Amino acid sequence: MILCKTPEEVSLQVRKWKLEGKKVGFVPTMGFLHEGHATLFDKSLSKADKTIVSIFVNPAQFNDPEDYAKYPINTAGDLKLCESKKVDLVFLPDQETMYPGGIPDVLLAIPHLMKNLCAVSRPGHFEGVLLVISRLFHFVEPDFAFFGKKDYQQYLLIREFCKTLAFPTEVIGCETIRSDKGLALSSRNARLSESEKEESLLVSRALRLGESQIRSGITDPVLIRDIMKDVLDSSSKIKLDYLEILNADTLESLEFLKGNLLLAVAVFIGPVRLIDNITLSVSE
Ligand code: AMP
Repeated sequence: MILCKTPEEVSLQVRKWKLEGKKVGFVPTMGFLHEGHATLFDKSLSKADKTIVSIFVNPAQFNDPEDYAKYPINTAGDLKLCESKKVDLVFLPDQETMYPGGIPDVLLAIPHLMKNLCAVSRPGHFEGVLLVISRLFHFVEPDFAFFGKKDYQQYLLIREFCKTLAFPTEVIGCETIRSDKGLALSSRNARLSESEKEESLLVSRALRLGESQIRSGITDPVLIRDIMKDVLDSSSKIKLDYLEILNADTLESLEFLKGNLLLAVAVFIGPVRLIDNITLSVSE
């Protein structure tokens, strides 16, 4: 496995691979890797000839300094996992390499996909995501890039961003990986106590209940939202950030639940913010 710390090293290696006709897959991460990340690596390893993983906790996408300061880090463990998965190259830049002279004064946005959900509860978050993705994509020039649908709005936004700005990269969404009990895997889960982990199961329970109620024929979004909210409200440890049922393609709100639907939840459990969602299709 090749380890690169600068964009120049990555570009050089990628050019060599491209001259050999190899297709490059890319998985950007913030590290503290788990099985959810590993599944993205597997997707890339099976679709592309070479797989690059970046590990960089991007300060530009944190609206909460405490969240950034407490973001878990385990570089040795991450490199071990990448090695065992047979990732070809890990890009491990530091902050000065990614943002020489500091975070640049530029504002990237796709307003119609940034009107709700995490765009509202984390102001500046997606602007920071689009900034780091733009820079990383210029360094790596991937043929394919893999993103988890656990961060559904991020996936949709990056897909649209690459299409609109003609990045020569196919953005591929991958299903959410969960624990046996249903908790969506996340690096932030490491900050939950055992009892908080137990409470956090209510998030996926609420989503599954919402899904089954919609599948049973209920088309009123207000009613479904209330049913789901009751599940989350049953825990005093859970503070709701948002709970929305939207058109999964446009992120617009709906009068009736038909078509491609996104059920999206964000909660705080103690100081830890967790997000989860499911998508489903209901015939028109
Ligand atoms: P992060 O390190 O949290 O920035 O995540 C890096 C990538 O892994 C993003 O595309 C995430 O959506 C994806 N990811 C994180 N957790 C999961 C999960 N449980 N299942 C699938 N993908 C995930």
